[in-house]
Amino acid sequence: MRIVLLGAQGSGKGTQAEKLSAELNIPHISTGDIFRDNIKRGTELGRLVKEYADKGLLVPDEVTIRIMRARLEQEDCSNGFILDGFPRNMKQAKALEEFSSVDRAISLEISDEEAVRRIAGRRNCPKCGRLYHMVYNPPKEDELCDVCHVKLVQRDDDKPEAIKRRLGIYHKETEPLKDFYKEKGVLLLVDGSQGINDVFSGIMKALSS
Ligand code: AMP
Repeated sequence: MRIVLLGAQGSGKGTQAEKLSAELNIPHISTGDIFRDNIKRGTELGRLVKEYADKGLLVPDEVTIRIMRARLEQEDCSNGFILDGFPRNMKQAKALEEFSSVDRAISLEISDEEAVRRIAGRRNCPKCGRLYHMVYNPPKEDELCDVCHVKLVQRDDDKPEAIKRRLGIYHKETEPLKDFYKEKGVLLLVDGSQGINDVFSGIMKALSS
């Protein structure tokens, strides 16, 4: 099963992709995670993408497409994958078509108000990358990772100015992909405004229908 997850920032793509990956036993591939990991390790790719990612701007398509093409060629993707954050515009969607088909595109639907509310509470563990939300999915101990016990951090691009910019880019560049996948007959819309487990049930129901 080759799945693309669509949805505004804060719609829960990362959280649901992790759950789907465990349920379907296929890898969760997040372009944002790949870029952040490279930035953290100070690789050449990291240095190249840092200024875009920090400001909430899209990394140039050529770079993103090259990275994703190489990633999807890896052995663990042979039975399928869940893409989170790619494709992000029409050029990337057309490029993806050249190296892989898409069986389902799942769009997690939420309002901008809810997106902003959620992103403001989002934190992650700087050591293991585990995701939390201070209201909807809080750590057991105050602001500490349940597993690593280090202090959780907020992504630079989750700060208010960057959020506004990223939501604007989503509506202009990414949302049109819903029509693109609808025309191909693979689009599924799921209400992303519910709690984590209800959204997951909605996704599984949509996938089996
Ligand atoms: P995300 O975690 O998906 O919100 O991605 C974080 C940042 O990585 C984005 O704000 C972009 O700078 C960059 N990024 C992630 N995916 C893409 C993509 N498909 N195309 C271009 N830039 C991307």
